[in-house]
Amino acid sequence: MNGPAARRGVEETVQPESSFLSPALPQEPDVVIVGAGSAGIAAARRLIAAGLTVTVLEARSRIGGRTVTRAIKGHPLDLGAHWLHAGPINPLVKLGHARGEPLRRAPVDGHVFVRGRPAGRAQSAALDRAFAMADRAMNQAARAQEDQPAAKALPPMGPMGSRVKEIHGLVSGRPLAQVSLHDFPSMEYEDNLFIAGGLGAYVARLGQCLPIRLGVAVQAVDWSGPGVRIETSAGALKARAVIVTAPMAVLQREAIRFTPSLPDAVEHAVHGFTQGVYEHMVLHWPDSPFRGADRLASLLGTRREPPGLLTCIDGSPFHFFELDQPAAATLDGRDAHAPARFARAVLAEHFGHGAIRNLSVVFSTAWRHDPWSRASWAVVPPGLYRIRDVLKAPVAERVWFAGEALSRAQWGTAGGAWEEGERVAGEIIAQLLPNHRMSEEPEPIAARTGS
Ligand SMILES: Cc1cc2nc3c(=O)[nH]c(=O)nc-3n(C[C@H](O)[C@H](O)[C@H](O)COP(=O)(O)OP(=O)(O)OC[C@H]3O[C@@H](n4cnc5c(N)ncnc54)[C@H](O)[C@@H]3O)c2cc1C
Repeated sequence: MNGPAARRGVEETVQPESSFLSPALPQEPDVVIVGAGSAGIAAARRLIAAGLTVTVLEARSRIGGRTVTRAIKGHPLDLGAHWLHAGPINPLVKLGHARGEPLRRAPVDGHVFVRGRPAGRAQSAALDRAFAMADRAMNQAARAQEDQPAAKALPPMGPMGSRVKEIHGLVSGRPLAQVSLHDFPSMEYEDNLFIAGGLGAYVARLGQCLPIRLGVAVQAVDWSGPGVRIETSAGALKARAVIVTAPMAVLQREAIRFTPSLPDAVEHAVHGFTQGVYEHMVLHWPDSPFRGADRLASLLGTRREPPGLLTCIDGSPFHFFELDQPAAATLDGRDAHAPARFARAVLAEHFGHGAIRNLSVVFSTAWRHDPWSRASWAVVPPGLYRIRDVLKAPVAERVWFAGEALSRAQWGTAGGAWEEGERVAGEIIAQLLPNHRMSEEPEPIAARTGS
């Protein structure tokens, strides 16, 4: 998220810039966690609840990673993850219910417009049918074992076929020709929730009072043993184990040096992922034609049909116009206002220039260029779905990986990252504290530093 123009109108982060700041780096915690996103926070909570000492090192000046909520014109808006997907299996939903968080179900019905006018029932039904056909076909094909590009499994779906393909490409982070079929159907998109105040703010609440050092980038991990030695931009520290939650795209750029080098299989797994691209353009459009809160809109019938448009977020005049990977690629290398011009041009194509007179694009995210994310999430290309399993096993029982990239059932999501953080923490507890009995939800936290 960069560029002064992009930041215009953004007032402040709705989440704390700092949580627990220890005056000096604890020298020998049991576990060091690299990254205070969903995976890192989940892991830290579980480890601390079991009685282990933890230090979380976070390169940015805030926690939450790819979940962040900001106040724009006084309204909390998520600039990263916004949806709580897969409600029945999402640990952030379960925890949210237990904490009494303000969760609400996402509406299932959306808007369909054809050349700027509300579509008839027949068109909406045709779109629904095409989605159902795509889901059935991909689920069946994935069960048949052979991995292949998800696009290959799609049947002819009539006039709505290309639209369905584009929407699935958007939410996958890459066009379906570049996505493993085996990964695709595992994601449940139907049972979604939102949280009042923003998902970023919720994740930040969960990270409060944890022993997190902000603005500390991990540069090297020496696992020649025993234990690990971590080099950071603020000095070195030792631990019995390390959990690396830095995104795959960051690791691919060798942002963290491992000594000795990681085993070949692990290296190949890290480099096997491609970068999922999904960017929000936050629109402030009080006179939009959309009614109701939190509805997806399909705009059909012109040259450019945006694959993602979430309207009237939380009942506000704000909307997300989503950029998929192909659209983002065409805007890369152009001036800072190019994304805003693009969104306006597309919407003018559908509704006319008069209708967008009071539309302003108040923020455009650029996670794909952010040095601490380099992508919106990690995508498994066709044929490589086993790379997750490689990363799930620790290296020499002291270097662990966690994060959204490792989750199979909730890949690419904050819930998946949380699930993986908890899984890895559970395995470390079993290893370091073999007699420990795990409680289900580790809350509240009594933060400990490793000093
Ligand atoms: C625009 C957008 C929309 C999205 N929409 C949704 C959605 O609606 N629902 C959903 O569930 N998911 C969504 N996602 C995906 C979701 O945000 C991520 O999958 C999830 O937040 C990743 O969590 P994580 O802990 O694996 O990684 P991160 O949140 O990226 O956390 C990793 C942390 O490591 C830090 N770090 C990196 N390198 C270093 C280093 N060398 N030293 C120290 N710290 C380091 C980073 O700063 C970061 O804080 C979206 C993502 C984007 C970008």
